Order: sequence, then structure tokens, then C-alpha cells
Amino acid sequence: MKLIFEKSAAGHRCAILPACDVEEYALSAELTREVAPKLPELNEQEISRHYTELNKRVHGVNCGFYPLGSCTMKYNPRIDEETAALPGFTQVHPLAPAHTVEGCKEALDTAKAYLCEITGMDDMTFQPAAGAHGEFTGVMLIKQYHDARGDSKRRKIIVPDSAHGTNPATAAMCGYDVVNIASAPNGCVDLEALKAVLGEDTAGLMLTNPNTVGIFDENILEITRLVHEAGGLCYYDGANLNAVMGVVRPGDMGFDCIHLNLHKTFATPHGGGGPGSGAVGCKAALAPYLPKADGIRVKSFHGNFLVVIKALTYLLTLGKEGVPEAAKNAVLNANYLQSKIKGTFTPAFDRICMHEFVLDLSNFKKETGVSALDVAKSLIDYGMHPPTMYFPLIVHEALMLEPTETESRETLDQAAEVFRKLFELAKTDPEYMHNAPHNAQIGRPDEVRAARTPVLRYSF
Ligand SMILES: *Cc1c(COP(=O)(O)O)cnc(C)c1O
Repeated sequence: MKLIFEKSAAGHRCAILPACDVEEYALSAELTREVAPKLPELNEQEISRHYTELNKRVHGVNCGFYPLGSCTMKYNPRIDEETAALPGFTQVHPLAPAHTVEGCKEALDTAKAYLCEITGMDDMTFQPAAGAHGEFTGVMLIKQYHDARGDSKRRKIIVPDSAHGTNPATAAMCGYDVVNIASAPNGCVDLEALKAVLGEDTAGLMLTNPNTVGIFDENILEITRLVHEAGGLCYYDGANLNAVMGVVRPGDMGFDCIHLNLHKTFATPHGGGGPGSGAVGCKAALAPYLPKADGIRVKSFHGNFLVVIKALTYLLTLGKEGVPEAAKNAVLNANYLQSKIKGTFTPAFDRICMHEFVLDLSNFKKETGVSALDVAKSLIDYGMHPPTMYFPLIVHEALMLEPTETESRETLDQAAEVFRKLFELAKTDPEYMHNAPHNAQIGRPDEVRAARTPVLRYSF
């Protein structure tokens, strides 16, 4: 496909501007360019076709099944885009006098009240712009809490080895020493391993529950009790709350602080780099340290306000019954798909899962030579987005699937059938799968080169 710069032809335009009806003003030389910027020149039709062509080359939830575990594309209803586009929300200035924007203020307060109720927290900030940013804010609250009490010997944050990579990175960014603990064979926190590292130097624990292998930790109350007993605080990574929202609350599990990815669980698409919202909730003891629009800030004003409007729309659409129903259906769909695939590929943990599950293809690879990557690439030929691959790191040859609550039984049946076909194909024609995908625009890009030396600029 040609790049937009290659399609450019001198003089092509798509703007039809009205004739200038005011006197022309010549800018002084120091304000103007010497050479015109090298912008592509296309007419409206050409531009429209260019982006439609690009659109056809990507896979999104509008194209087909997208079971990307952990960070999947959850439900992003169109109505949320409509409310977030209302002029009353888009045409406001953050410095507008408070009495002129009371509706916006009420929307923020209502969203905060609902999300505090869902998480079991006492207060919340919408400033952080992403999950990792929320983690940073949350762990800094924990640090402030200890510092304010003069408790400066607490240097360590405990992170299980199944954690999302941002958790240890956050703890390190906040100046803590990261203590990794190995998971128990069932994928949950190993209580003995936890007890062994808890002590007077423990600042806190960062945890996801259900964890990254899709399992709800049965010992959660004991875990948070042990951390509190040692004087530490408990941080909940709530990026993906869709397994438990409206059903159980992190606050009741004993957590002191939490972040939510509104751009995962609460109706904002998270692809494409933003905008997002890593809302941070906390218990009353941490609330004094929350960033404020007119105090210490981690981002300007109220964060990405329109993302909060989408979350509020989503919550109001679903209502008190709809929120837990969405969670239960997410869990039901994941278990349905897991049980349908189980006859072929092997679950890493053969038990009831929450909103996602992990397959372990290490034996399959030994027997057939076909890897998790080969299976993921082969799924593309069937119009499916690949699952999350090689994560969490504690499972080798991992494929992590999260169907979400919005997929129909028919879609899940079709997906299970595709998995069955690939399971058989691996035995008869592994070579074909090593070279998959065969029908996609792009086959197997050099991922290391793409990550290390990305070419993001057009050189004329
Ligand atoms: C996505 C995710 C994050 C990080 O969120 P970003 O918005 O990408 O910074 C953290 N933890 C978990 C469990 C996640 O799935």
C-alpha cells in the first residue's frame, strides 16, 4: 500500500473555505516559515479512500472476535461516544468559574460516587491518565502515608511473579525495593512465601485479584490481613475489573488503594495510545494525600474528563443490576470457552476460571513442534485476533484468552471449532502453521526490529 506522502499530488486540496471577508494581515517574517511544511496534498476522495484502505488492514472488535486476555477490548458502546461528544462537555474550559460548569462537576461527583461504591473505596481521583500512571499515584499515596507517620524504615513493596509488568516497574519508580514472590502451583499467592518476606520493612503489597491467570485467590482475606499485621498497605491493580465489578469489592477484600483502567473496563477503547484514565481510589486514611485540582497534581485539572463521561454513561446504562450481570456473563463466557477448548489444548490451571483463562502449549509444542506463536498466527487466517501470548511469564507457551461478556454463544462455538481445527492441523501439517498467517496483509514482521528501531518518519 502506498503511503499518504506517495499519494500526494501538488495542488490537491479538500478544504473549501469561504472567501476572506476581513482585511488580510501580513505576519512578520520571524513568525512565518521560510519553506512551506511538506504536508501531503490530497483531495477529499483520496483522503477518504486512504483511511478506508488502512482501516481494512487492521483487526478490531468491529471485524471479529478479539479474545486478547488481560487487556482485551471490552465493551465500548457507541452511546458513550455520543454523550462524551455533547457540547456541554466538550466546550468547557477547566478554568471556567465553578457556577458555570456545575453539570460537569456533578457528572464527576456522580462517577466518583458510583466507582467508590463498586470498589469499596472512600475517595477517588480521576487525574492519572493511564493504568501505570494510576499505579504510580497510588503507591505514592502509600509512601506519603508511611512518611507522614515517620515510618521511614519501610523500603519494600512485595509483588508476586504473576503480576502485570507495570507493578514492579511502579514500585521501583516510587523508590521502593521490589520483592518478588513466587506463586503457588495453583497460580495464587504462596502464603508461606509471603510470610517469609513480610516484616518491619514492608511498605505494601501489589496484587491483582483475580490474578493474571484468571483465578480468584481464595486466601485473599488472609493475605491482606497478614500484610496489615506487618504494618504494610495493600494495593489492588484493578485495571480489569470486569470479573468482579458489582459482585465483590476490593475494599472488602482488605485493599487500601486501587486503580481502575476506565479505558479497559469502563467503556473507553484502550488501543491507539489514549486518552485513558487510571482512576485511583483509596480508603479514608489515604485520602488526605490524593492529588487535587488545586493542590499537588499528577496531571492537569481533572484528568481526561471525557473518559469519565463515557464511564458514567456506561454505568448509568447498565445500572445496579446490569453491572454485576456483565461481570457474571464475562465469567460465564470464559468458562464456556475454556470447557469447549479443553478437549484439545490444555488449560494451565484446570479449574473454574474468572473472566479469562490461560492455555499451556508446552507439551503440545514438544509433540508437534507447533508453538503458541504459530497457533496465534494461524488464528488470524480465521478472522480472529490472537489471544495474549507468552504472558503471564509463569506459564510457558501461554495463550491467554478473554472472550468478554459481549460475545454470543455462536461466536464462542465458532472460536472453539477453529481451535479444534488448528489442534488437528498441527499434527498433519505443522509446516503450514509455522508460516501462518497465509491470508493476512502482513505475515510475520520482525517484532524485535519493529520495537527497537521503529521507522515512524517519512524521509523525503
Ligand atoms: C493494562 C494493565 C495495566 C497498565 O495500564 P496502562 O493504561 O496500559 O498503563 C496495569 N495492570 C494490569 C493488570 C493491566 O491489565
